[in-house]
This record gives sequence, C-alpha cells and structure tokens, in this order.
Amino acid sequence: PAASHGHRNHLEHLEQSFLAIPSAKGARDALERYTRHAHYAGLDADYHLALQVLDEWAGLLGIDLPDNRTQLVFDAGSNESKDHVQGKGHATGPRAWTDTYSVWLNYPINSSLTLSRPRPSDGDDDQPAPEPYFTAALKEDVLDQDPTSAKGVPTFHGYSASGSASGQIVYAGMGRREDFDGLAARGIDVRGKVVLVSYGGVFRGLKVRAAQEAGAVACLIYTDPIEDGNVTVGNGYAAYPDGPARHPSAVQRGSVQGLSIYPGDPATPEKPSYRNATRLDPDTADSLPKIPSLPLSYQDARPLLESLRGKGVPARDINDRMPGALPGIEYWTGPSDDVAHVENHVDLEVRDIWNTYAVLPGLVDSEVVIMGNHRDAWTFGAADPNSGTAAFHETIKGLGELYRRGWRPLRTIMFASWDAEEYGLVGSTEFGEDHAEWIRDNAVAYHNADVSVSGSQFHAFASPSLAGLLQHSAASVADPNAQGGDAGTGAGAGANITLDTVSPLGSGSDFTVFLQYLGIASTDMGYSARAGGTDPVYMYHSNYDSFYWMDKFGDPGFRRHEAASKVLGLAAIRTAASLFSPIDVKAYAAKLEAYLDDVDKVARDGDGAGVLGGRVDVDLRRVRRAIRHVQRAAAGVDKERAALERAVDKLLEKRRRTSAAADSHHGHGGHDGALRKVLGRVRRLNEKVRLFEQGFIDPQGLPGRTWYKHLGVAPGRWLGYGATTLPGLTESITLDGGRGAQHEADRLAKHLEAMARRLQRH
Ligand code: GLU
Ligand code: ZN
Ligand code: ZN
Repeated sequence: PAASHGHRNHLEHLEQSFLAIPSAKGARDALERYTRHAHYAGLDADYHLALQVLDEWAGLLGIDLPDNRTQLVFDAGSNESKDHVQGKGHATGPRAWTDTYSVWLNYPINSSLTLSRPRPSDGDDDQPAPEPYFTAALKEDVLDQDPTSAKGVPTFHGYSASGSASGQIVYAGMGRREDFDGLAARGIDVRGKVVLVSYGGVFRGLKVRAAQEAGAVACLIYTDPIEDGNVTVGNGYAAYPDGPARHPSAVQRGSVQGLSIYPGDPATPEKPSYRNATRLDPDTADSLPKIPSLPLSYQDARPLLESLRGKGVPARDINDRMPGALPGIEYWTGPSDDVAHVENHVDLEVRDIWNTYAVLPGLVDSEVVIMGNHRDAWTFGAADPNSGTAAFHETIKGLGELYRRGWRPLRTIMFASWDAEEYGLVGSTEFGEDHAEWIRDNAVAYHNADVSVSGSQFHAFASPSLAGLLQHSAASVADPNAQGGDAGTGAGAGANITLDTVSPLGSGSDFTVFLQYLGIASTDMGYSARAGGTDPVYMYHSNYDSFYWMDKFGDPGFRRHEAASKVLGLAAIRTAASLFSPIDVKAYAAKLEAYLDDVDKVARDGDGAGVLGGRVDVDLRRVRRAIRHVQRAAAGVDKERAALERAVDKLLEKRRRTSAAADSHHGHGGHDGALRKVLGRVRRLNEKVRLFEQGFIDPQGLPGRTWYKHLGVAPGRWLGYGATTLPGLTESITLDGGRGAQHEADRLAKHLEAMARRLQRH
C-alpha cells in the first residue's frame, strides 16, 4: 500500500528526527537541577519546582511566559484553569500553566519508639513502668560523600494517624491478608498488640489496614534485607556510599492511605478539591488509617525482632514467606514479653498543591494524548520520580524541537507534572475527578512515567490494547545496557519485553484515575531492579534517593534515562501522529479470554494460596459468549481498518498522480471530496476504539469500593500495587467465598455485550 505507506514514511522520518535529540547529558543536568532539595507536596521547594518545570517546559516548547510567572498559577475550578485545560481561546499555539488544588496533607511533628521489659507480674500498678532499654533512632545517617543527606526529611508515613500506643509486639511477616489469617489460625492474637511487619508484597497502606482490622494498636513497617536479593551487607557487599548494598539506617517513607478503597484527597472522593470544597471529616474518611504507624530501618527493627526470639511460633510455621533475611534473626511471631511504646504525631491540614501542565495543540484538538509524571518526592527524588521528570525534559525537548521545525501533531499532546502523588495520587486524581467529562470525551490514551530509572531492566505495564505500542516503541530504541559503543546495533531497549511480559496495571501511580476511574487506555514504563537482585540497591523513599546515588550507582552515564525519554517520545508520537489510532482492541479481546480462564480455574481449584476453601459455583457461560462476541467484533474492526488503509492509499496515490500531471488549472476537488469522506470514516473508527475501554466502566463501581469503576482491571483489594483482572468477579471468589459471584458474572457479561455491539456499529 503505497500512500499510507507515504504516511508511514513520514512517521518514520519524524521518529528518526526525534530520536536524535534526547541526550544522557540533558537528562543528567535536569536531574541535578530537580534534586537539590527535598520537595514533598506543599513545601516551598515543591512550589518552586512547579514553577521551574513550568519555565523549562515553556522554554522547550517555545512559549513566552509573563515576567511574573504567578500570573499563570490558577485556582483549580476557575475559568482560567478550565479554559487552559480545554484550550478555549488558545487553539493556535502551545500553552503552559499551573493549577492549585487544596487537599489534606499531614506533615511530621515528632515521633518515638521505645522498648521496655514488662512490668514484674507481682509488681503493683503504681510502680512506674520500667525504663526503656532501647530507643529507636528513627532517622538516617548523614553521609559525607552524599552531599544532600544532611538536609533530609524526618521519617514518617504520609496520611498516618496521630497518636500513641503501647503493647507487646507481634510479627506478621509482610502484613498480607494470608499472614494475618495464618496468625489467627495458630491462635496468635493481634488485638491490643503493636504489629511489626516488613515492606514488600503489597502496598504499605494495606498492611496498616490489615493490622487495624485485626485489632492492633499500632503498626511498624521495616525494610528487611530480604528485599535486596544477593546484594546485602551480610553477603559481603559494602553498604552505600562505599558499595551497592542498602545502608543499615535507610528508611522507606510512604503513604499509608487505603489506596485500594479510593485514591486522591481522602476528604473529597469523586470530587475535585477546590479551595472551597466540602470535605469529609478525617474520622469518616475511609481511606485514612485509624491506628498510628511508623517506618523503620532494619537497624532499628533488629532489637524488636530479637525481643521475639522463642516467643509464639517460628514464623516459617505460619507460611514460608514469613521469615526475613536479617543475619542473626530467627523470626518468631511473638507476642513478645517486652513492650513497645509508639508515638506518632503529625499535623493534618488542608494545604495547597500544584500541578503544572503544557499542551502542544494538534490538528484534531478533540483527540488528546495525555503524558504524566509526578514531581513531588518524599526526599530528593533522584529516582522517584525525578528520573521520570528528567526523561520528560528530554522527551519534551525532542517534541518541541520537531514543533519548531514545523511539525504539527495530528492529535493534541498534554504533559502533566503531578503533585502529591506520594500521599496517594492526589494531584492526578483531583484533576481526573475535576475534568472527568472532558477526559472521557477527548482522551485517547494516558502514558505515565513515574520512576524512569532505579535499576537496569526495562519494565512495561499497559492496557492490553496498548501493549503492542509500548513493546514496539521500546524495541525501536537502542538498548542502553549494551556494552561499549555498539548500542545502536543492540537488540533494543525493550529486548526483554514481549507482548506477554507487558503486565496489566494495578495502582501505585498516576495512571489510576485515568484507567480505573475513567476507562482511558493507559501505559506505564521504566527501568527498575533486575529480577534476582543483582543491581545496586535502590533505597526507595529514603534520604539516599539522591543525585549522588543515581550518578554513582543507579545510572552512571545516564544512558537509561536517555533511553526512557526516547521510548516515551516514540509512544507519544505514535499515539499522536499516526492516522489510525494505535489502540488494538483485538489484542484486548484476546486477553479477556485468558482472564476468564483464570477465574474459571480459581473457582474450581481455589487460589493456590490456601486462602480459599472449596470451589465456588458460578456459571460463566454468558461471560464466555460475550467475550467471543467482543473477539469477533474486534476482528471486524481490524478488517475495517485494513480496508480504510487501502482506500486512503488509493486516493492519495491518485491525488499524487494528478499533481504530477502538472495540470495546474485542474484541481483535485473530486479526489479531495472522496478523501474527506474516507478520512471521516477513519475518524469514526478511531473514536470507536478510543471509547472501547470506557465500556468496562460501571458507575456503580466494585463491591465495597465504588470509586474503582473498571470491571476489567483494578488494584487487588489486598494488593494495592498488583493488578487483579476481572476484579469484581475474581474477588467475589477469592475474597468473598463466592458471595456475589453470579451477579458479578452477569454484570460483566452485560458490559461486554454492549462493548461488542458498539464495535460492530458503523
Ligand atoms: N507511589 C506511591 C507509593 O507507592 C503511591 C502512594 C499511593 O498510591 O497512595 O507510595
Ligand atoms: Zn513515584
Ligand atoms: Zn514514591
């Protein structure tokens, strides 16, 4: 096919021009600028960075800014803000601005953790409690080589509850549901206890929630070296900054909101947090924990784990994922005899946050590709998230340069620098709740980058309809891990990625509102730890997520940053510039069958984790039939696309010949009319596939968590980060013993039937 061939040549040329622009040095310089100060949401440093990103993006896209930048900082909900989002009165050139939402955030005041011997059992209660024999440091060491470590941030949990509590310690492994169930089965009572769990496995907020539901009075979460695979001090590696192992004092901060209930400002579920918003009371906001919690280093956790020795049962008797890998520790469940005392004082207030945006208008302004990365960081954010911000800088540099050379994207591209992601995806969620209708009507896809580089292996997550786009974009970029100067001949940045290793999206970053709430096809990608634990240890959410670490250990030479910006840029170009939408409904339809097979298996055999007792009786035939319908309709869409491609080719070819005949007084009006008609059909086809994923959205939402509205995929109710596919149906079986399963099956079937019908309509 010659001419859409022509279109493909044009795209190819565009991509090659783009790929020449992002550079490792540009990314390194940008990262250095973004990581000088800790900048968690709402701080002055965060505000200044919002304006700096505004400045930089405007510069890269050739936008003139007023001398007084604050003239471009709007209140969300204002007319200026809405007009900027929707492009009213801005249709011609690129634009950039910053929006303010006002949301609950907690800041640390003070905290402590001590360990004391029990009161003597014959002692009388008027005796003062025994003096503590251990007081936790709760702070990270200042390291001479790492210059920012001296201006770090206190350790605390975002959205944690203020309060104090005392109790014996119970160790609950990773704090997963099965760990708590296992403890209960062995008669180990968690009520009134201080629960100690390690990071890993599930989102930390769900550990606190599980502890709370089990009756604990406080929850302590520490980093166990088991996370670090081979690269540990115990294995002979030197600790950072002398070597690649974790520093013993490193602490993982992080949000403990109930992410899988709803993300965003806990005070305004499903509503935007304008300055004058009506807010829920903290006591009634379901996503907020009610018991205090603290994050700990493994160094601070050691005496607690030692106090459990010989108490209760060995952790491995509960399940084999319970024991950690701290040298010299036996891992018993407890309860301990010794008593832990926990103080956590935080200040929960309504505070301003700032999202910064830039828009490159397309020829078709009713189709918008949204690209997002968060900007706020618990500490310096060298990996999380500013490796992504640095990659964005290079991506925008490349696209801006093409724009200046005269390129106009077919579809509009919007870039977003989200705030308060770390507290609970707050900036992006408020934006999504605010502009829900506009997004549903216009967004073609949402591409997310959070941590672009924290390790050496490329990872990709996507709606099944965009897995191919991501895979192919990665394959077109030189592999930054290739040795020597032959990167150009390497197998591609995504050499390890196949369609089957592009995972479904759960949650834990800013794609959530777009995908799970609005049904916009989404992607997320970046370089993270290579399986098997051989990369230098990335000290996530610690004061050592610093420029020094990235430069010396994370990505010396910054070639992975460069590669990440190129993959992002290609994804943007292919989504915004190709005549036919890259959304592949046939690929999605194929996955649905695999998802249903999983449900079938779990209903028949249990989930393998031993949580489920017997089988669940549910009739899946209607769902299976509906999936077949979707598959047939999707195959029809593919045929229609091929036919339209041929038609466009033919008309363009004719038109080319007419012009070549140099018949100057003979226009190509006839061909143009026919072409316009075919292009109209292309647009309708693109619209159909754009709306496909929105077919999964049910305004009723999932059982017990109505904010999550996507019946195809959700963050697992007790996973958070991890995706559960066909979540209503799956969890009715895996978590609710079959309750509601038939209802969920029928509801899903209805949605799929409607999706098939819409695909068939011309
Ligand atoms: N990326 C953040 C984290 O993992 C997200 C926080 C949240 O979703 O609540 O801590
Ligand atoms: Zn992040
Ligand atoms: Zn983070």
